[in-house]
Amino acid sequence: MKLDGKVAIVTGAASGIGKEIASVYASEGAKVVIADLAPDAAEQTAADFRAAGHDALAVAMDVTNEDQVNAGVSKVVETWGGVDILVSNAGIQIVHPVEEFTLAEWKKMLAIHLDGAFLTTRACLPHMYASGRGGSIIYMGSVHSKEASLLKAPYVTAKHGLIGLSKVVAKEGAAHGVRANVICPGFVRTPLVDKQIPEQAKTLGISEAEVIKNVMLKETVDGEFTTVADVAAVALLFASFPSNALTGQSLVVSHGWFMQ
Ligand code: NAD
Repeated sequence: MKLDGKVAIVTGAASGIGKEIASVYASEGAKVVIADLAPDAAEQTAADFRAAGHDALAVAMDVTNEDQVNAGVSKVVETWGGVDILVSNAGIQIVHPVEEFTLAEWKKMLAIHLDGAFLTTRACLPHMYASGRGGSIIYMGSVHSKEASLLKAPYVTAKHGLIGLSKVVAKEGAAHGVRANVICPGFVRTPLVDKQIPEQAKTLGISEAEVIKNVMLKETVDGEFTTVADVAAVALLFASFPSNALTGQSLVVSHGWFMQ
């Protein structure tokens, strides 16, 4: 197994992409922490994993809340003695034209995606440094870490920002064997995307089928959604890679939408 005995914290792991990453990590022998804003869903996910024979711990955590992040990571270290992998994945989407965003919406988006990434990284790094085993930090970016779309100003801004954070963590963490990388998925059918389809249809004045075909999947090579399994496979690669050879990178997994 590729992650035997590793402790992995996955934020936003009660749903969608994070849940699948936690599931793949658990199947590869990791002890997984389901860190999520939604405590009941996190508990249920962890209970399901335990029922399947895996080690899983639920931690209620709003990634924008410094005290909750620090307390959550401390709980993990007390329970399992350290942390080897952090997947900073929790995220939301709010879509409007720039001129219609309120400052509160803008700040909320940057807080979840950027403050959340910073706070979880800052809480985990000292434990990774102290262990002598190094570690892997993975940020959930997006094709929108590389490319812009209509209506997504704070999301595109934040997802671009994660690449900067990852490069700095890669440089600072190298001496301790801590790697940092970004996964950049195309559209994946999760609750986050299902919510956007009717919203975009309304804002753009087109049908939901047209949003899928002509907006979301237009630039892919084959008109297909990326899957949670596709993203989890990349998350496993970054988590299990054995050296600093693979650090400070961002990998687009998107059916060819945005080629670099
Ligand atoms: P999702 O809505 O299925 O899951 C997101 C999870 O994050 C939920 O369980 C939610 O409770 C949790 N969450 C939200 N705010 C939080 C907070 N403040 N603190 C802790 N947890 C919080 O969404 P998803 O599609 O699985 O998205 C996961 C990540 O993948 C996000 O960062 C998103 O931007 C990114 N992403 C998604 C897609 C896509 O097409 N679905 C594409 C590229 C990137």
